Amino acid sequence: MKKIHLKCPYCGAQAVLAPATSVRKDADCNEKVYVCARYPVCDAYVSAHQESLLPMGTLADKHLRIKRRQAHIALNRLWERGLMTKKEAYHWLQFQLGIPESEAHIGRFAEYRCNQVIDLCSRFINAGRRSA
Ligand SMILES: [Zn+2]
Repeated sequence: MKKIHLKCPYCGAQAVLAPATSVRKDADCNEKVYVCARYPVCDAYVSAHQESLLPMGTLADKHLRIKRRQAHIALNRLWERGLMTKKEAYHWLQFQLGIPESEAHIGRFAEYRCNQVIDLCSRFINAGRRSA
């Protein structure tokens, strides 16, 4: 397996691959996370893809993890409500934020980007509601 070098953006320590249960008691036992080597002093981690074990984005502290979750929920709402397909929702987001597809991953977003996503999605849904 290829070793992945990922650094914690908060403290600069190396991130290590660990079972998700080491940071979240309710995690699935197959799930893995990249967690800051200084955890729990530094509470930063990011999920890993189950198959490839690649990190899903950059390490996030508790505050940013909540923001990213909210941004995901906001974006998911667009296709869950049938307003667009999942693919269209991501394209729409790229266009709205003016970023390329390679960067349009909520797992890489900083807090201000998450806030933009939440704001854009709720405005889109409210606009649809008014015209309906
Ligand atoms: Zn750290």
